[in-house]
Order: sequence, then C-alpha cells, then structure tokens
Amino acid sequence: MIESTELKKNIEDQNSNFDYESDRIWLSSPHMSGEEQKYIQEAFKTNWIAPLGANVDGFEQDLCDFTGAKYAAALSSGTAAIHLALKLCNVGIDDYVICQSFTFVATANAIVYEKAIPIFVDSETETWGMDPKLLEKAILHCISLEKKPKAIIPVHLYGMPVKMEEIMEIARKYNIPVIEDAAEALGSTIHGKQCGTFGDYGIVSFNGNKIITTSGGGMLLSNDKVAIEKARFLATQSRDDAPYYAHSELGYNYRLSNVLAGIGRGQMEVISDRVNQRRSNFDFYQSELKNIPGISFLPEQDFCESNRWLTIILVDPELTGGVTSEDIRLTLLTESIESRPLWKPMHMQTLYDKNPYFGHGVAMKLFKTGLCLPSGSNLTTEELQRVVAAVKRCFN
Ligand SMILES: *Cc1c(COP(=O)(O)O)cnc(C)c1O
Repeated sequence: MIESTELKKNIEDQNSNFDYESDRIWLSSPHMSGEEQKYIQEAFKTNWIAPLGANVDGFEQDLCDFTGAKYAAALSSGTAAIHLALKLCNVGIDDYVICQSFTFVATANAIVYEKAIPIFVDSETETWGMDPKLLEKAILHCISLEKKPKAIIPVHLYGMPVKMEEIMEIARKYNIPVIEDAAEALGSTIHGKQCGTFGDYGIVSFNGNKIITTSGGGMLLSNDKVAIEKARFLATQSRDDAPYYAHSELGYNYRLSNVLAGIGRGQMEVISDRVNQRRSNFDFYQSELKNIPGISFLPEQDFCESNRWLTIILVDPELTGGVTSEDIRLTLLTESIESRPLWKPMHMQTLYDKNPYFGHGVAMKLFKTGLCLPSGSNLTTEELQRVVAAVKRCFN
C-alpha cells in the first residue's frame, strides 16, 4: 500500500493546480437532500432527542410506502436488523443458518452473535447472488445431518437483485424462513416489486456509504405485524409493560434515534433521484469503458432492475494485455480517486474459513478480478470523466 502523504506530495509536486485532498473523488459519499434539517429541527423543537418520536414513526412509514412492506422497525444499524430477524426466526446455539458467502461481513457476524453456525453458499454468474442450486444442495446436506437450517440469508449484492423467486420457492419447499439482506439494494426491484419485500424479513442499511444514509441506521421490514412489534420490543431492552423497569427477556439497545430518523426522512424525499443518478453513473461508465478489451460489466437480467449502488468493472488480465484490477486501483489512487476491490467472500476470510462451504469458485473469481468505481449520486459529470480518463490511462 502506498503511503498516502507521500503520494499526495508527489502528485502535488507534479501538478501545482492539483490538490490531493480537495480534488479527491470518493467511492460513495453521503449526499444530503437539504430537507434533512427540517426534520431535525422538528425533533429539537419538540425536544424529542430520543430513540422514539415522530421522525422514527414517519421514517418507518416512509419505508413502508416506498417498498410496499406492511410493517417496518427503524433500528440503529443494518446489522442490528439482521440480528433481530435471526432472533425472530428462533436461531440459537449451534443452529445452522445458510448465508451467501459473497457479502459484507455483517451478514455472517449476526449469525454468530447467536452462537449459530453460518453455512456458506457461493454465487451464480448472472446476478452474483446466492446460487439456488447450491442452496438446495446445502439444505439437503444439513437435513442429512438431521439439522435443518433455521434461516436462509441471500444478499442483493451491490444493488443487483439475487434470484429471489427461485430462492423463495426452495425455501418454501423445505419450510425455512428467509431473511433478505437488502442493505445495498433499497430501490432495486424484481418484476417491479421492491427488494426487501420477498423474504419473511427484509433488512436495509443507512450507513454512510449506502444509497441513502442516516449516518448510521437500519430498517427491518416484514408483513408480519406481531414480528415487527416483537422486534421493537427486543430493540428497547425488552422492557415489559409495567410502571417500573420490568424485564423477563434479554433485550438490546437497537432503536434508531429520532434525530437520525429525521435525516432519513429528508433522504427518503429524494430516494428515486438517487437511484436514477446511480443508474446513470453506471450507464456512463459502461458506454465509456465497454470497448476496452478485457473490461466487462454485470448486465441486468430481464426479471430485475438494480439501483446500481456501486458500479463494478471486471478486469480480465488475459484480455487486457496484463492490466489487472489492482493496477487500475493503484493508478486511480495516484490521481486521488478512491476505488475498492469487491467483498472478499466469507469462506475465504480467516474468521470463517473453517465453516462449511458449498461452491465452485464464482465469488472467489469475482473478488480477484472486480473493482468498484466511484459511484456516489453526488458525482459531477466532470468527476465521472476524470475517473474514466484515469482508467483509460492504464491502457496506454
Ligand atoms: C452495509 C451492509 C450491512 C450492514 O449494515 P450496517 O448498517 O452497516 O450495519 C449488511 N449487509 C450488507 C450486504 C451490507 O452491505
């Protein structure tokens, strides 16, 4: 890894008009609508600086209206939402939970919070999401050990919808609940229906780099009213209904603050614009870079539309004349442009490489050849052009 201060100095020495900090292009930075302050001020005015209040209720309603989910619980993070969904599926010690290997570590960690065991399943090449055939193989394996999995967690990676209908069919066949990790996929659809509403539970994240943000936060979605009420109960230290503090169950401090929910409400006013902007970033990169031999993009399948949270290029060194995704990453870095390798699959992580894994190397290959390009909805045309020019320079 190149030392960034050294890098900065070198570049600024070469070009006196260039400022490494102020000219930096980030991978995916927060993009405020300007309406957030209105909701935050409301929270201040009414002194609801608490993990409940009108913004929390309003933000939950916004998510229901947008996704079509019947109920929603606003939480402190997407990870908390996965954790509570697992609790609602009665996942406990030594239970098996089937988890997509190609994901951010939070998906798998939540399983281990309950001392359950993640069984990792590889991706297929059309969506980069959980391979339905391997899912069934993994289920049958668990059943042969007389331990039917307690839950299945597919992930819509980088906003691209996974083959959710096939996964639900298999899950229903074996009667296993599905927790749909839509942390990266708010605004993505399958046959026009929003991601996060196919599983028994759906989860969304509002972390700083996601398609919209509350600086940190998450949402649990479900059509099951009782389950969402239970999630809110668990998220507030499982406080029983009594004038004093009465607790008969283990709980968590997982509720989203009313101030942060105000940011979320301001963000939800512009969610469709954000999706459109990210999709247009993708179109721009694709039209500018697709003719370079060895660079390819993930197309959408007929059944879905991606929010294109991050645009990814796959770089095949056999066709690029030896240029790798890492070469491109380093070149972009010298021009103060942040790019990032794809998620390293869970079954390749030191934390999880002893866990059972069903796969054929698809996620591993994508990890080795992929690169996420700057994809924020606040990127200017000029900035997008700078990224494209820098990528093209790797091929001169
Ligand atoms: C971001 C993310 C999460 C976790 O969300 P947090 O809000 O950061 O806790 C879970 N799964 C995936 C796939 C993510 O990208």
